[in-house]
Amino acid sequence: MHPALNPAAQNEQLSGIREFTYLVRATPGAIGFTIGEPDLNTPDEVKQAAKDALDANDTHYPPGNGYPSTLEAISAYEAREHGLHYSADEILLTVGATEALFVSFATILCDGDEVIIPTPAFGLYESLVRLNRGVPVALPTQNNHYQIDPAALERAITDKTKAIILTSPNNPTGCIYTKENLDAIHDVLKDKPIFVICDDVYRSLVYSGEYHSFSEYQDMRERIIIVQSFSKPYAMTGWRLGYLMADAPLRERLQVFHQYTVTSVPAFVQAACVKALDVDVSPVRALFKRRRDYMYGRLTEMGWSCQEPEGAFYIFVDISKWSMDSRAFAKKMLAEAGVGVIPGVFFGTEGYVRLSYCYSDAELREGLDRMEKFIKTL
Ligand code: PLP
Repeated sequence: MHPALNPAAQNEQLSGIREFTYLVRATPGAIGFTIGEPDLNTPDEVKQAAKDALDANDTHYPPGNGYPSTLEAISAYEAREHGLHYSADEILLTVGATEALFVSFATILCDGDEVIIPTPAFGLYESLVRLNRGVPVALPTQNNHYQIDPAALERAITDKTKAIILTSPNNPTGCIYTKENLDAIHDVLKDKPIFVICDDVYRSLVYSGEYHSFSEYQDMRERIIIVQSFSKPYAMTGWRLGYLMADAPLRERLQVFHQYTVTSVPAFVQAACVKALDVDVSPVRALFKRRRDYMYGRLTEMGWSCQEPEGAFYIFVDISKWSMDSRAFAKKMLAEAGVGVIPGVFFGTEGYVRLSYCYSDAELREGLDRMEKFIKTL
């Protein structure tokens, strides 16, 4: 006699990316280009700030949305570095960008509301939309250089459309939306009652091209939610820290799900957030740019087809000429060449695999050498 569970929890698959990453880790001698986190450690001064806060007994319940001093520091950083003007009461400190995304969907979605997800996309979105009783609607971009076709966007919009999520730079492609494309998206959305969630967690890791975000379209401010993370630029994935920014009345409602699920982010880590905002990320950017150039150069020399990523730390490679689905291809390459990649199907796009370049020069070289030999056998 087992009482029925919530069907959303019962039916939702666990993350395919994680499952595949564990499979690669369990394969002896394998090199995995799987992980989406920097192979660096959190800067010492950031760790020290948390240690000092612990020693000063910053171990009590903090305010639900974050300490005012943390929110003020984020507000000043956003204005100074990114030209975004959100006051402390328009910011919510969250348990990673993941919680910011969960809270966003939980707050804006009613039963059966549709969320447009340009694909390929981070698989988390689809699951979060479904868990919050929404319906994910894929908007494929792979035949449009990963830009959004405004006419296709118009066609995807129905009277059930509640939101669209825009990720730039993108996971898994590393591509960014051009200003021209953002203008066109804005033209489609500006007079429609649709929220725009800007997942810009890779914004500080852009290597080429001029960067713009939809968050710049402040005429739509009351419908924009900006999602940020400390994970990627500061190598803080394990700290689980992020934040969202939204117009004051919307942010006021966004705190409801946050308060009733996590109460707040931990107290003593907030000093580390403030410290991180002062870290110069240009050496990290230079490191990943160098790796991007190496991996992209090697892949194209070998005849793999892929678009040059402009940011983040991923390359999305077209494998369709080998007529295998992405899962079968990734499993075969792991078994026969000892190189792990993530099947494109986990990003809603078959016929591709994602490679991460969060790895040392030696690992990149060895993994790519193995791949070069492997494709000659196909
Ligand atoms: N958004 C994107 C596009 C990501 O790639 C990731 C993590 O890989 C996240 C959000 C989640 O980040 P966090 O570690 O802050 O929860």
